[in-house]
Amino acid sequence: MFGVGSSLDLRYFVRTLKKIDTSMKKNKKIAVIGGGIAGLTFARCLTREEYDIHIFEKKEDFGEVGAAISVFPNALCVMDAIGLLPEILENSGQFQKVYLKTSKGAILSKSEPQSDYPVICIHRADLHRILLKNIDAELHTGFGLKALTHKENGQVELSFEQKESMIFDAVVGADGIHSVVRQHIIGDGQPLFRGYNIWRGVVKTDFDIGYGSETYGNGQRVGIVPIKDGVYGWWATCNEAFMQDDAPEDVKEKLFRLFGDWHHPIPELIANTENIIKNSLIDRKPHKGWTVGTATLIGDAAHPTTPNLGQGGCMAIEGAYILAKALQKYGLNSQAFARYEELQYPRSKEITNESLKLGRMGQLTNPFLIALRNFVFKVMPSSVAMKMIDKYFSYRVTKLEI
Ligand SMILES: Cc1cc2nc3c(=O)[nH]c(=O)nc-3n(C[C@H](O)[C@H](O)[C@H](O)COP(=O)(O)OP(=O)(O)OC[C@H]3O[C@@H](n4cnc5c(N)ncnc54)[C@H](O)[C@@H]3O)c2cc1C
Repeated sequence: MFGVGSSLDLRYFVRTLKKIDTSMKKNKKIAVIGGGIAGLTFARCLTREEYDIHIFEKKEDFGEVGAAISVFPNALCVMDAIGLLPEILENSGQFQKVYLKTSKGAILSKSEPQSDYPVICIHRADLHRILLKNIDAELHTGFGLKALTHKENGQVELSFEQKESMIFDAVVGADGIHSVVRQHIIGDGQPLFRGYNIWRGVVKTDFDIGYGSETYGNGQRVGIVPIKDGVYGWWATCNEAFMQDDAPEDVKEKLFRLFGDWHHPIPELIANTENIIKNSLIDRKPHKGWTVGTATLIGDAAHPTTPNLGQGGCMAIEGAYILAKALQKYGLNSQAFARYEELQYPRSKEITNESLKLGRMGQLTNPFLIALRNFVFKVMPSSVAMKMIDKYFSYRVTKLEI
């Protein structure tokens, strides 16, 4: 039978095994390609005691400009688990109410998000800054990954533009929708253009509208999101060609032609914005098989989506957390990568497909279908509308059995 002495011996033995396991993991070097939301969140979820993490960013610094980003409760629960929630909330605004409107300002629906975490909006630069200062990893800027090669011993050799190549035990491709790592693993070419472009801006106002909104027109939409202290983020879409140049019009001139007679405060927000960013809306068809050997994908590199559900960055945060937890639990092996994809793929596929449909509905140009869409928004009880999207927002990766 086991006495007190032998149970102490057993505890000592288990502790020693854990130490050996930790030091073996620490010797493993993981290269994260891309210092965006996915790469930085992944680095925060692991610690240097567990793995030796190196982040390679092709830009010359780790800054993010961008505009506003909405972060939903499904991603905030991760921020809570990794200790960043208070700082994020301090730097963001909350959606107390969300309106759907017509371009003339008629209210189609009103909802009030209710959850254990708020729905927030933050400047991307702030989210990035908070993540960056809270990670413990070796940072390499000006390192654009060119190619990767699998060695016979399971390691991966990385070749960078105009830099020496390096060898790692694993590679996490967090290099966004145009991912080089994805081309190596999946090889599905260029992303798919979805028929509309988006302009975005952030502006300080002297008024406080106190809500978020999405306004529907004919092949055009505008969203307004509250950031903090009278600062608002806005976005506007229009059906046009891929990367269509606004010239010969000035961008504001063009936006005024498209949205100048839309309801308050849309023209005011556009007029007072200094920097306006324009993108074409792209995604990819969901594709399984995110891992080859010890090279895997997270964030937009794995599951890029159109932003109609505001979930691309949120899923990047969820996926980074799941992968880190799987590596903690199973070690750096195929079981960890398989478990990560098993948990993350079905959800990301559903969100990508739903977001695409929502975008098509938002960009309708047929007058009959527009009238039908607006009618459905108007008659649908907000509780039903909330329920339809709640399955995405009430998901908690932190409660998953990984
Ligand atoms: C208009 C718009 C609005 C959006 N709104 C929201 C929203 O409200 N809420 C939300 O959750 N999501 C939103 N998203 C989606 C969100 O922006 C993305 O899902 C998120 O940024 C993905 O993060 P990531 O780290 O995977 O990729 P990225 O943010 O693209 O970061 C990739 C990083 O990798 C670097 N990189 C690229 N190639 C290489 C290379 N070869 N070598 C080294 N480094 C490389 C890049 O420079 C970059 O820093 C929106 C997207 C768009 C386009």
